[in-house]
Amino acid sequence: VTTLYIVSGCLAGLRCRYDGKDSADERVINLVREGRAVPVCPEQFGGLPTPRPSCEIVDGRVLNADGMDVSDNFLRGAEEAFKLVEMLGAEKAILKSRSPSCGISKIYDGTFSGNLVDGDGVFAAMLKKAGIEVENE
Ligand code: SF4
Repeated sequence: VTTLYIVSGCLAGLRCRYDGKDSADERVINLVREGRAVPVCPEQFGGLPTPRPSCEIVDGRVLNADGMDVSDNFLRGAEEAFKLVEMLGAEKAILKSRSPSCGISKIYDGTFSGNLVDGDGVFAAMLKKAGIEVENE
């Protein structure tokens, strides 16, 4: 049985990042080409525009660089992306590092200064909780 992956859209070459760019990763693109991976962008699924102000997790809430609370968008987007995980029966995920949605184990610390702390992005945490195997790109 071939493992199906959920992957961060920006790694698949979609320009869904906050700055309107991608984080294209050849390995991820090849998995998509082979029909073994499906890209999602939880932040776009949550209704946030692209480009958008960068966001970080501060005391359990997600704030953007303008100080606006976008936690509801992040949660909604993660839930929508998770629907696809379930629908497809995806067992593994390859996610963009350090993102407040997709980051695994290390994310920005909420001061918008490039410092990292231990923690998972909102979508990564949801996947881990559901027992999906997650890895950074
Ligand atoms: Fe990439 Fe995830 Fe950020 Fe979307 S939410 S741009 S998929 S890291």
